[in-house]
Amino acid sequence: MKDAMTDAPSAEAMEAYWLPFTANRAFKAQPKIFSGADGMYYFTPDGRRILDGMAGLWCVNAGHNAPRIAAAIREQAGKLDYVSSFGMSHPLAFELARRIAAVAPEGLDHVFFVNSGSEAVDTALKIARAYHQARGDGRRIRLVGRAKGYHGMGFGGLSVAGISRHKRDFGPLLGEVDHLPHTHHPEHNAFSRGLPAWGAHLADELEAICAIQDPSTIAAVIVEPVTGSGGVLPPPVGYLERLRKICDRHGILLIFDEVITGFGRIGAPFGAQVLGVTPDIITCAKGMTNGAVPMGGVLVNRQVFDTFMDGPAEAPELMHGYTYSGHPLACAAGIAALDTYEQDGIFENTPKTASVWEDAAHALKDAPHVVDIRNIGLLAAIELAPRAGAGGTRAASVMQHCFDKGVLVRTAGDTLVLSPPLIITPDEIDRLFTTIREGLMSLN
Ligand code: PMP
Repeated sequence: MKDAMTDAPSAEAMEAYWLPFTANRAFKAQPKIFSGADGMYYFTPDGRRILDGMAGLWCVNAGHNAPRIAAAIREQAGKLDYVSSFGMSHPLAFELARRIAAVAPEGLDHVFFVNSGSEAVDTALKIARAYHQARGDGRRIRLVGRAKGYHGMGFGGLSVAGISRHKRDFGPLLGEVDHLPHTHHPEHNAFSRGLPAWGAHLADELEAICAIQDPSTIAAVIVEPVTGSGGVLPPPVGYLERLRKICDRHGILLIFDEVITGFGRIGAPFGAQVLGVTPDIITCAKGMTNGAVPMGGVLVNRQVFDTFMDGPAEAPELMHGYTYSGHPLACAAGIAALDTYEQDGIFENTPKTASVWEDAAHALKDAPHVVDIRNIGLLAAIELAPRAGAGGTRAASVMQHCFDKGVLVRTAGDTLVLSPPLIITPDEIDRLFTTIREGLMSLN
């Protein structure tokens, strides 16, 4: 075990930091602080080891402090710290793009770099509109998202997302947006293993939207192939195929937000490969660098890319980007992450571990308060019946129980969501689900 005994923050430092996504005052009364990590574990300043059931935040796919990645970042930091993203670049950016294209679904072989999932989504939405514009079809501006979808916190991603409490405080979002219904239907699908059998017809709602909005005004549909933050919802069998067909029928671009499912999470480099449906655009981030340096990307197919390259050669084809697009440290981390995934067989091992994972998750079916269990690859959700008048509190109590016992899990409302590093062993899987069971048993 590596040295993890770093001092806890001072009271003054605790006051100074405004944490994102966090009830700051409650946090400061009961802080969760990690000062080190290795493989499957976090270490706390007071010397506890915490089994990471969330791969950080769905991102540390090869486990924490993966040695090749740490070494690559260190080496790059002493070699080339930064290059402007305006009209210049550096060799690692090209090499990382090549490596990603080599493992991406057939045809998605051009990569635009950004720094996060939110930026990837906003970039993809802008590319979709600009693509139609470049084809002389500037009427296509409407965007379609889906209920329960999560696409980051930019105004574009929030607009197409389908989780109302994320939008509530932020005033008008993009106007020209419609939403498909979600596919969360435990009354038909409870305790499905992998893809639920029921629900493909929900994709036909896109036809209903087309009937209301002239389909020749719709630029793109964006969905997570497996809804993640909305509660781990694998798509019904045949659903994505139907969405693809309807998009093709009406000339609408299909975007898969693979920020979670990219880089091995469900058993192949990209979720599209596991699910057998190829979108026109993929957004990714998180596992791209194993979470070690912020980075995201947008993969586009040849038709989209070539449309931009057909314009005048002197001007930027897409007037978009960020100071840190293709940052040298991120690219070094990204290449080393792919080396790690490939050389350690992580993409191939995940489907094998996933069957142990599936059985362990579904063994909780008879545990108290459990109303649904969902899984795909190394993702799982344990949905609990809400306490009357106090939604979310049961899952929060189980999460705290697990943390006290040295296991980190996450909640989405009344659902426990799990997404461990892909290197998790059967013994660690057993410990994770045993601890959750104990937490469920201890609930009143
Ligand atoms: N899209 C999806 C599907 C995500 O899960 C997330 C993050 N959880 C994002 C976008 C946003 O990514 P980021 O937090 O890196 O901006």
